[in-house]
Amino acid sequence: MNSTQIASVSYQPLNLPLIEPFAIATGTQYQVENVVVQVQLTDGTTGLGEAAPFPAVSGETQDSTLAVLQDLEKHLIGKDVKNWRTLAKELDKLSHEAPAARCGLEMAILDALCKYYQMPLYVFFGGVQTQLVTDLTITAGDEAHAAASAKSIVERGFSIIKVKTEGTDVDYDFRRIQAIHNAAPGAKLIVDGNCGYDLARAQAFVNRAAEAKIPIILLEQPLPRESWEDLAVLATTCPFPIAADESARSAKDVARLAQDRSASVVNIKLMKCGVLEALQMAALAQVHGLGLMIGGMVESILAMTFSAHFAAGIGGFGYIDLDTPLFIAEHPFTGGFQQEGEKLTLNFEVAGHGVSFAPTFS
Ligand SMILES: [Mg+2]
Repeated sequence: MNSTQIASVSYQPLNLPLIEPFAIATGTQYQVENVVVQVQLTDGTTGLGEAAPFPAVSGETQDSTLAVLQDLEKHLIGKDVKNWRTLAKELDKLSHEAPAARCGLEMAILDALCKYYQMPLYVFFGGVQTQLVTDLTITAGDEAHAAASAKSIVERGFSIIKVKTEGTDVDYDFRRIQAIHNAAPGAKLIVDGNCGYDLARAQAFVNRAAEAKIPIILLEQPLPRESWEDLAVLATTCPFPIAADESARSAKDVARLAQDRSASVVNIKLMKCGVLEALQMAALAQVHGLGLMIGGMVESILAMTFSAHFAAGIGGFGYIDLDTPLFIAEHPFTGGFQQEGEKLTLNFEVAGHGVSFAPTFS
């Protein structure tokens, strides 16, 4: 028997309390309802992954994820993780509509593979760097709350603030961003519309922000996913770089965005498409001269550390949005990236992603 064959796959709900609700234009999440996945090889090596279904984005839920994993389990027993790319393709065929579930499995498989060969995960992805600088997000809340949050974010050592817009009332969104800028004039802003605007409202918002000289370094997904033509129109006049997030779920999407010149940055989130497809998206974006952003759903230190290895290993990611562990009140893990203010540092000695269950966890 080959010692890198998968002997068992296990999974369980990962319910974690949030410090405050995580609200975006298309929905609000009150607690983390993810799934932790474990793969064990025949030699006893284990790998851990996390699936973070975000119902408002992909329609997946914790229950549907557990059901998909139960279905995929039998296909994986006896498979060799050395053939991870073949395995990832098979998983894609079997669970194309369940990217978060598939992603959790791919993470666990690659963690086990890297641990078996005693290789840090960022080295597996290319080994370019071990440090990243992340933003921190302001989600819901009125102007006063947003201003207070901005001030405290800067005091905590962050220079980039990400802010979610509400989408229906441009005046309200603008006043909120102005309040954030006034409270933290030195901070750069990433504004995430999460599909909330139409073309007219997006243009109105952009014009007001430009007039007021708000230092927006990126405008993320202002329009709905399928508004391809409108996004291309917006891009011709928008003074801020546009990032595609919900519109960029696959390598095919990236090709279209590049061809239409409708976005200059692609936000890669492993949960949208799985690890293999994300590698293809990153490569295609680089070939077309598009900038790279790494983000995530509402994920614990486990999935976010995996994404940090991905971005640091490949290198060249200009926008890092790996902040959701800071929204989670407690979790059952040890290890993962070290965070000091905005700076994330990967442990370059540990094999795999370096996150494991805490000994107290049963
Ligand atoms: Mg986004």
